[in-house]
Amino acid sequence: MKLNLKHTFIQELPADPISENTRRQVKEACFSYVTPKKTNAPKMLHVSKDMAKALGLSEADVSSDTFTKVFTGNEVLPHTKPYAMCYGGHQFGNWAGQLGDGRAINLFEVEHNKKQWTVQLKGAGETPYSRTADGLAVLRSSIREYLCSEAMFHLGVPTTRALSLALSGDEVLRDMLYDGNSAYEKGAIVSRISPSFLRFGSFEIFAARQDHKTLKQLVDYTIQQHFTHLGTPSKEVYIKFFAEVSQRTLEMIIHWQRVGFVHGVMNTDNMSILGLTIDYGPYGWLEGFDFGWTPNTTDKQHKRYRYGNQPNIGLWNLYQLANALYPLIEDVEALEAILESYKTDFEKNSLVMMKTKLGLELNDDKDHMLVQALEDALLLTETDMTLFFRLLGRFKKGDAKRGLDIVKEAFYIPNEVSDTIAQQWRDWFERYDFRLDKELLSNIERQSKMNTVNPKYVLRNYMAQLAIDDANKGNYNLIEELFQLLKKPYDEQPDYERWFAKRPDWARHKVGCSMLSCSS
Ligand code: AMP
Ligand code: MG
Repeated sequence: MKLNLKHTFIQELPADPISENTRRQVKEACFSYVTPKKTNAPKMLHVSKDMAKALGLSEADVSSDTFTKVFTGNEVLPHTKPYAMCYGGHQFGNWAGQLGDGRAINLFEVEHNKKQWTVQLKGAGETPYSRTADGLAVLRSSIREYLCSEAMFHLGVPTTRALSLALSGDEVLRDMLYDGNSAYEKGAIVSRISPSFLRFGSFEIFAARQDHKTLKQLVDYTIQQHFTHLGTPSKEVYIKFFAEVSQRTLEMIIHWQRVGFVHGVMNTDNMSILGLTIDYGPYGWLEGFDFGWTPNTTDKQHKRYRYGNQPNIGLWNLYQLANALYPLIEDVEALEAILESYKTDFEKNSLVMMKTKLGLELNDDKDHMLVQALEDALLLTETDMTLFFRLLGRFKKGDAKRGLDIVKEAFYIPNEVSDTIAQQWRDWFERYDFRLDKELLSNIERQSKMNTVNPKYVLRNYMAQLAIDDANKGNYNLIEELFQLLKKPYDEQPDYERWFAKRPDWARHKVGCSMLSCSS
């Protein structure tokens, strides 16, 4: 296996001098060296060929024994030194102190085709940051992370990627619902790929410890490696850096809102400094359009991370990052101006995004009201978000009277569409039809544009669960089927039409489909 290996992170940043793998507070260091755990019977289940190619791996490499060993942590490539990163974070609104890679181990960096990647294993054993947990991951959460990271990439949502999914051959004890019923599950390891796995929390930890020296080293490193276009680090450049992180975070969240993705655990340790979706845990996809929905049962009470609150939480998290960077910037006004513009930009960009979902290219003063009226209507009765917007593409000018008929498949309980609700919809379709008169595109052109932003296929919660149920019985075919399906989420794929459907009724309250805990 010939990879163009790099080691910038460990070469340029301070290492934890202690080499024992004991759980502890790690001070004045960005990472600790650690060796992945040997596993009982490693077995590769799936590999993302696109990702392998992007790293410069050949097909022969991917099918080799070495590949399985390296990407399950059973062999460490010569001249590489795996490490776990130190970070902190705000969890559910409270400072949680040191967290760190408790079950993630970075293997090495790769440069290929002028792109820089860090390769990381998730579930490969304990690290100094494992706190009270075991450093392992189970098959169900690994399937969810593996499939969703690649699906998000193909949806055009900024995200970390995944290279491989493997069984460790070990059993892992988990209390899936946190209700005292622990059981053994199959252990698994995902290799995740990203230009960097640095998080907001990576910076917060040093600010919290008033270790401004390491903080500066880390910020300078991040700018020099990942924000080179900003120039040589200085106070001005730190401000620009924060502005760009803010902008990227905003863009990422707008994409989430567009496709109906709910992250579920937007703690600051799960916010990538590159504005990538990271740490796929109890995430979910909106089925019925609902601003109040979260899949995460751990967050059931306050619903802090519900769909409609993601934009606000992005801002809240950016405030924490601003606080962490403050010692290097010492300019409250500059930071506040950036946070203020997040709010206004969000509103603007959000409207632009919603208009693309409606196929509206030109401007009208009342567009925000049209969008608002649509959201009100979508909330009247459970209406499938993905189906609705995809079907709306079939609407033609002059179709106002047929509107309801065109989208009817999107309603979960057709009986609930009462006369009043139907009337509200008819009113909306009248407005939409009237507004379309202003547009220049033909019906066909508009539909094909809408189909590039309104996916036909997303990884519905129950679909992932079906793949998990099969995999737990040793059948991995559905992982491959969903993987292929989700590579082209905007295309019509007649062979896969069965996945263009509402969530089946059996999945409404099923664990794993509508309810997920952080247990993974
Ligand atoms: P999360 O909310 O899943 O992003 O995890 C929060 C923190 O808990 C991170 O520091 C993780 O590394 C750590 N963590 C989660 N699960 C485990 C595990 N099974 N073993 C060790 N650390 C874990
Ligand atoms: Mg995390």
